[in-house]
Formats: sequence, C-alpha cells, structure tokens
Amino acid sequence: MSIREAISAGASSAPLSGIDAVINYGRGRKGLAAFWAGEGELTTPGFIREASVQALDGGETFYTAQTGISGLREALARYHGRHFGHGFEPDEFTVTAGGMHAILLALQATVKAGDEVIYLTPAWPNLAAAAGVGGTIPVAVPLYLRQGEWLFNADAVEAAVTPRTRAIFVNSPSNPTGWVATREQLAAILTIARRHGLWIIADEIYSRFVYGGDRSPSFYDIMEPEDRIIFVNTFSKNWSMTGWRIGWLSTHKSLSQTFANLVQYSTSGVPPFLQRGAIAALDHGDEYVDAQVVLARNGRDILTQSFQKNSRIKFATPQGAFYFFFAIDELADSRQVAFELIDRANIGLAPGSAFGAAGRGYLRMCFLRDTDQLKSAAERICEWVCRRT
Ligand code: PMP
Repeated sequence: MSIREAISAGASSAPLSGIDAVINYGRGRKGLAAFWAGEGELTTPGFIREASVQALDGGETFYTAQTGISGLREALARYHGRHFGHGFEPDEFTVTAGGMHAILLALQATVKAGDEVIYLTPAWPNLAAAAGVGGTIPVAVPLYLRQGEWLFNADAVEAAVTPRTRAIFVNSPSNPTGWVATREQLAAILTIARRHGLWIIADEIYSRFVYGGDRSPSFYDIMEPEDRIIFVNTFSKNWSMTGWRIGWLSTHKSLSQTFANLVQYSTSGVPPFLQRGAIAALDHGDEYVDAQVVLARNGRDILTQSFQKNSRIKFATPQGAFYFFFAIDELADSRQVAFELIDRANIGLAPGSAFGAAGRGYLRMCFLRDTDQLKSAAERICEWVCRRT
C-alpha cells in the first residue's frame, strides 16, 4: 500500500477546489485581470490594522479564551443589535478562524458520518467538500435560472429530506448566484426544519451586500430562541480581511461551552491581537462596509449593462453578494471556457462547474472592483464570446 493509499478515505476523497484548479493554471500570467476569487483588491483599512498592531506591540501574544475575548463577543452583540434589531448576548457568539472554520464547527456540532446535509446549488463548494471529509453526505437541491431569476422551491427541499437528514445549509445572499432568500422563503425552510427536527446552518456572510436596504432578510427576523439554528459568519468580506482568518458563529447561549470545546480541539483559539482588530471593525466599520456595498453595486450595474447587450450571455442580475454568475449560449464546458479566457482574453474567472452540477455552463466573476477594470474586462469577455462559436 502506498503512502497516499494509507490516508483516510475522507482525506483522500477531498477534491481540489475547481476554483483553485483554474487559479493554479492562470496564476502569475502577465497582465491577467483576475476576478476568480471572492475578494476585492483593497487591503484591510488602517483603523483595523492599527488596533491589531497596537495589541501585538502591547504584548497580547498569549493563549486566548476559547470562544473569543470578552471585548470581541460584546462587540459582536452590539453589532448584531444594531443591524438585526433586537438584543443579543455575548454568550451567543464564538469567535472562529474564519467563516470556513465556523462552518466546520457547525458541521461537527450537528452531523456525523452517514448523515445527510441538504444545501442549495449552485453553491460555494466548501460546505459539501467539508461535509464529505467527515463522511457526511451533502444533498444538493438546485435553484433554476428562469427568465432572469433564480427560482427557489421549498417543496424540493422538503422532498430531499430523508430519515438520515440532520441539517439544512442555507447561504443567502448566495455565492455564486446572488440569489437572496425572501423572508417568506426563509420561513418556509424554518417550517421544514422544525417539522423534521433538523438543524439550520445559516450562512448569511454576505447579508450586508444587498442592493436595496441595510441587509438581507435573516433567520434572526423569524426565529424563536429555541430554534436549532447556527449562524456562521466572517470578517473576511465586509471589512476586506480575507487573509486574517477570523470569523464567528452564533447560536443559543446554552451551546457556548460546547463550541468552546470544539475550538479547543481544532484551533485552540484565534490570535488575541487579531481579535482586537475585529473589535475595531465591528465598532467603527459600518461606513467602510457601506462604501464597499456602493462599490459592489456600481460593479454589478456595469456588468449588467455590458452583458445584457450580448444575447448569448444569460444571467440573473444579482440581488446580493458580489458575484456575477453567467452562462454563455452553446458553451457548456465552463472549465474549458475558464482556461480559454485565461489564454485568449487574459481574464481569470471561476468555472461554474466548481459550484456543483447545477453550475455547469456558468462562470463566476467577482465584481468588487472599480469601474475601469470591470468595463475593460466586460469588453474583452464580450469580444471573446463573439469570436468564439
Ligand atoms: N461562506 C460563503 C458563502 C463564502 O463565500 C465564503 C468565502 N468565500 C465563506 C463562507 C468563508 O469565509 P472565510 O473566508 O472567512 O473562510
């Protein structure tokens, strides 16, 4: 048996992310305009960096409380109180090493090998892949693009429930489609979860990125305290902190010790000096987020205007998040298209196939960019589409 064959089935079946496969191919090309990753180009704002540098210089280099320093959990309670309209307690929050770690802990707390977790596709690939590593079976319920809109069907979610289902993962606003669940749709999912005794893992990390209103509809708006919901979240997107690897989860405060234990046995905590920066982001970062949303909205409008001139390009104008997810008529192999766009147009996009079978034929383009970059990229894509038959 080779050394590779000796590792666990979960680890060996973990797929290379389809986004990374394209990034690996195009990385370092001269002049390549890259829109494949889920981040803008701005570095973290100074007021956040300074808070962290100060804490680091001030000696905050020791082990930290497992659920996060009390100052950060208090800041999370304030932030949620401000944006989600009711009181929150610090004990409802656990600080994690990014949104991905929050998802992992939510899975560890709710599912085991052989269980099923339902999720909506096209979907950011990491949930299904992380579930798979633990032997949990991800069950995809597709959304469909019809006449410029992604359609959600609660009956399809209900039909996907089996005796082995333990959780429903709901990402709204959605990466990659930009679909935003209405309050009624969230209520329908909650009804299904209650009826079958399922957990909801609510990924509302893009909730501030909506194009109308302060935030998207949230399970916070409709839930009762005893509902089995774990919210996963991150500092990555709102405050340009993707490389910091800091996020949080929130759930019923009676689970605080459980999550402290799960943190203990995974990362053993998030660096305390990073947590200081996170407090600054929450307490003083609302204007920064608003400006990012304006940038994203502008980006969305530019791509909408450019792509609607080309009848071969099909899309729904995103209602949230910061990705354009589009298909090109007669070009079904989006992985191949993503490689060709690198070679022929010097544009880096994420292939829709990375987001599951329902994403095949699509490409994802992050539009958290300035006007000039997006205009020029859209022109190059449209030119390439016209040349390519
Ligand atoms: N959920 C969704 C829907 C995402 O798009 C991402 C990041 N791309 C995450 C979670 C994870 O965020 P983080 O970078 O903090 O791990």
